Amino acid sequence: MTEVGDGYAALSDGSKFEADAVVWSVGLRASELTRQISGELDHLGRVPVDRRLRALPEVFAAGDTAAAPYDEERTVMQACQHATPLGKVAGYNAAADLLGLPLRDFTPGPYVTCLDLGGAGGVFTRGWDRRVMASGAEGGEIKRRINEYIHPPVDDEALILTAADQVYMDLPFFPRPEQAA
Ligand SMILES: Cc1cc2nc3c(=O)[nH]c(=O)nc-3n(C[C@H](O)[C@H](O)[C@H](O)COP(=O)(O)OP(=O)(O)OC[C@H]3O[C@@H](n4cnc5c(N)ncnc54)[C@H](O)[C@@H]3O)c2cc1C
Repeated sequence: MTEVGDGYAALSDGSKFEADAVVWSVGLRASELTRQISGELDHLGRVPVDRRLRALPEVFAAGDTAAAPYDEERTVMQACQHATPLGKVAGYNAAADLLGLPLRDFTPGPYVTCLDLGGAGGVFTRGWDRRVMASGAEGGEIKRRINEYIHPPVDDEALILTAADQVYMDLPFFPRPEQAA
């Protein structure tokens, strides 16, 4: 796509078509820095890591650069839902490794998606088959609450340390794995 104008979008091949709304989806790619860590990157350019997020004996990876196992079949998504807890666990493990303390496993919570649809509210789904759990105003309210929740405290040491230890979003619609149906 080369241009979006009033009521139309234009593609690089010169074609132009009418549109009231354009959704631009370009995919994701991990930072090229991952090439310095491993020659065996996944299809998104991410570094393979084990359950403790270790890529090499002296390197831990997190967030969009880490192909961390979600379960036996899948790796995590390049989204804040996984990037945030990955960062917490990788940081914890890097420090624990230096201090000679036990490392912890990365154990992601149930996969969900939540999309803001502007005036139409939002949609909240659960599971990798994206079952719709809430839409419209209710979906929008869930998205609003998530957006509030994911911003970490910045000016209170005790709150920052407490938040750093919370790997799951502790919300009614985010049950821990042992509670999920
Ligand atoms: C437009 C957009 C919309 C998104 N919307 C959503 C959404 O609605 N929901 C969702 O879950 N996820 C969303 N994501 C994905 C989400 O933002 C990422 O999954 C998440 O930010 C990844 O966190 P991260 O810490 O791994 O990487 P980043 O947040 O990308 O942080 C990496 C940091 O490293 C810095 N950096 C890079 N190279 C160097 C270097 N050489 N030296 C020093 N610093 C460097 C960068 O400047 C950056 O600050 C969106 C992403 C984009 C781009």
